[in-house]
Amino acid sequence: MDTRYIFVTGGVVSSLGKGIISSSIARLLLSRGFNVTIQKFDPYINIDPGTLNPYEHGECYVTVDGHEADLDLGHYERFTNIKTTRANNITTGRVYQSVIDKERRGDYLGKTVQIIPHITDEIKRNVKLLGNKDNYDFVITEIGGTVGDIESLPFLEAVRQLRWELGNKCICVHLTYVPYINAAKEMKTKPTQHSVKQLQQVGIQPDILVLRTEHDIPVNMRRKVAQFCNVSPDAVIQSIDAPTIYEVPLMMHEQHLDNIILEKTSTPYTGEPDLTKWNHFLDKLRSAKDELTIALVGKYVELQDAYKSIDESLFQACTYNDRKLVIKYVSSERLTDANVDQMLSGHDGVIVAPGFGQRGTEGKFVALKWCREHDVPTFGICLGMQSMVVEYARNVMGMPDANSVELDPKTPHNVIDLMEEQKSITNLGGTMRLGAYACRLTPGTKVAQAYGTLDIEERHRHRFEFNDEYREAFEQAGMLCVGENPQTHLVEVVEVPSCRWYIGTQYHPEYSSTVLSPHPLFLSFIRAAIDYHNEKHKQ
Ligand code: GLN
Repeated sequence: MDTRYIFVTGGVVSSLGKGIISSSIARLLLSRGFNVTIQKFDPYINIDPGTLNPYEHGECYVTVDGHEADLDLGHYERFTNIKTTRANNITTGRVYQSVIDKERRGDYLGKTVQIIPHITDEIKRNVKLLGNKDNYDFVITEIGGTVGDIESLPFLEAVRQLRWELGNKCICVHLTYVPYINAAKEMKTKPTQHSVKQLQQVGIQPDILVLRTEHDIPVNMRRKVAQFCNVSPDAVIQSIDAPTIYEVPLMMHEQHLDNIILEKTSTPYTGEPDLTKWNHFLDKLRSAKDELTIALVGKYVELQDAYKSIDESLFQACTYNDRKLVIKYVSSERLTDANVDQMLSGHDGVIVAPGFGQRGTEGKFVALKWCREHDVPTFGICLGMQSMVVEYARNVMGMPDANSVELDPKTPHNVIDLMEEQKSITNLGGTMRLGAYACRLTPGTKVAQAYGTLDIEERHRHRFEFNDEYREAFEQAGMLCVGENPQTHLVEVVEVPSCRWYIGTQYHPEYSSTVLSPHPLFLSFIRAAIDYHNEKHKQ
């Protein structure tokens, strides 16, 4: 079948959850047996979000092919179980870079290079690239930003052209907001009408409207929206606040969003989507009563999306273990020897987060010493793993000035050192050790047991590594290197077997945990936390 293209745009305000709606549409179409992919177009000029501070757009997600991507790609993977690549996340910066490179090569044969048609053609090429490449039945493209932003205009113009070229093989789903005015006790559809008008002004008539709301929108109000916006009444769907984002595909299906999409794109279909496994997860989620409390120690604790993939991985692993996850974010900057007991006790497990730079790292060492000495299940990820190594060197191996070269370039005990291949690199963008690399685990270790296999592949994002010169000393002191890259022997996993669960990974397992395939290491960590919880409460 010819590829169908679904564009998801947003209006009124940002943060309405376009990524979740796009992911939910993908989930429903996949569950009907279609071959689907999702991509995100971000209107900012950065080539990728790799150099962005998490305060800007939250966590930076990493694809298997080593692209530093928008966190929405994490949602796409968690909802669909399909791995994304650099082709799934395009920014204005990348579009311009490619056009300018072509101009310098002389590809435009002396023509004046302009936004229309050259930039829009490049955007269209990137949309169609995915469809052509793997013969997808559906390519869902989420346009970042809000209709009316100057930056998103070239993307919307490309959507307009594609709709004209592709006819009914291309539709637009527009997500807006219906606010509730408390003083008037009324919901208001005017912002939606304005937002649709703005879209119409750039030549796009939405086919489906999804209205984000905190309250149930009455049928007559939806009809009114349909009438004002030239959309059929059944294609005005509400997306009401849900207990979790994973309920959204079901809520969309209840309102027949998948059927409407299939009909509007003239796609033949029969029957219903098979959501058995998805429902199994949701049933577990709804029935989990017993709480499990995990502390996440990091420096971006006040920021909701900074550790998105870790939060979701913990949530999935808890759900499959019939537990209700309670995460407590602990600011590593505020942790000291004096308050650590009060800040960390009472938790069933502790995660020490990834990160960059000096700020908050001393607090991570304080947390890790406390966790190790109190034998609390502890999981260190990337900088968290590197911090485990530094803390062990300082407090167990008698090297009080041990450090990572990233945090103290002059440390006499550089137990974490800059990777050789990084030494000549000066540019910051896209130059880390990125993406999936192989790792071989040591048989008989906790981590090997968790995976149930010895050869794994995991995603990375780092410049520093465990300094191999210290390997023997660490192993003699009780911290074992239990996973390494088979080619370079770079240490990927450390474990202290005398503790109940004390594991650090140089890689990021959180990028590959999905609803239908929760990550084995997170499952194992949560099981250890449950055992620890039960033990504590027996006494
Ligand atoms: N800053 C560390 C490094 O570059 C860890 C990176 C991370 O936690 N993602 O190696």
